[in-house]
Amino acid sequence: MTTAYVTHPRYVEHHLPEHPEHAGRIRAVWKRLDEDSQLAALQRVEARPATREQVLLVHDADYFALLERTSHMPITARLDPDTYANPVTFEIALLAAGGVIKAVDSVLSGTADNALAAIRPPGHHAIAGRGMGFCLFNNAAVAARYAQQAHGIERVAIVDYDVHHGNGTNDIFYDDPSVLFISLHQYPLYPMQGLADETGAGAGKGATINLPLPAGSGDAAYARAFSEVVEPALARFQPELLIVSAGHDAHWMDPLAGMNLSLTGFADLNARLNRMAVELGSRIVYVMEGGYNLDVLGYGWRNIARQLLGLAPDDPLGPAPASHEPDLSALLNRLSDLHHLR
Ligand SMILES: [Zn+2]
Repeated sequence: MTTAYVTHPRYVEHHLPEHPEHAGRIRAVWKRLDEDSQLAALQRVEARPATREQVLLVHDADYFALLERTSHMPITARLDPDTYANPVTFEIALLAAGGVIKAVDSVLSGTADNALAAIRPPGHHAIAGRGMGFCLFNNAAVAARYAQQAHGIERVAIVDYDVHHGNGTNDIFYDDPSVLFISLHQYPLYPMQGLADETGAGAGKGATINLPLPAGSGDAAYARAFSEVVEPALARFQPELLIVSAGHDAHWMDPLAGMNLSLTGFADLNARLNRMAVELGSRIVYVMEGGYNLDVLGYGWRNIARQLLGLAPDDPLGPAPASHEPDLSALLNRLSDLHHLR
């Protein structure tokens, strides 16, 4: 198995001290991947900046121009209360989107069997017309559309297990039947979207699947949601490319959310996605989104890399303290009905 590992040293330059989405996040990932001698087998690929044309596959020209202007400002600008742009952010955001494009190129041109894109800033909250929620460009969405246009594939699935709803990706492909978007997220939580009955519009009706999970959901709840909704939906859709918006903020140690996944639980989700990609003949690319505990991020991404290479994951952080997982029966039954999955 050849696994491409796309990243870029400049990802640390988008930085604001005291902000949860700071440069230490990517350093934590690099450190854990570098110290694991078995990961020397990864095919290292340096990201290149996305072009304006590539970004405009999903973003508005006005927003692109606005973000470009922040690079000429001497101060750190705020796109919203949560989302900062310093004078190099525009360049680094292009490198982030370009990193996922590079990963897509690797797997679709056949130089790698699968890929991980360790990038920042994250992307899944960014909508066509603006950045929000720490996100500048929607890296996964740009890469999905790029895969269709540059490589001529038809069906792309994006599975987003970041603890926050991937509202940007949701909105960008809401009326598009060629991109299946599946989001598992804590609800209620920022950005307060992603209810079960948000299923797409027009020709895209049914190609958006939202799983708003209650706080406290852990390994068993997520596994059940995959078995009953995510996996049947992917099997029916038959993607040619599977992009995973991999956030690690549903881990029990994450400071921003209230879910109870363990690293073992994340590894189980990854194993399910990797197995489905093989069964469906789809390529798979993991894209870094959120995750604000540095140990979780480092070990979580190390597991993604290990699993893509066929190595066993591990869990140095252990399970969530004893907790009672919510019963998802009513929600999953409703989703199965809404999406005709039985
Ligand atoms: Zn998140």
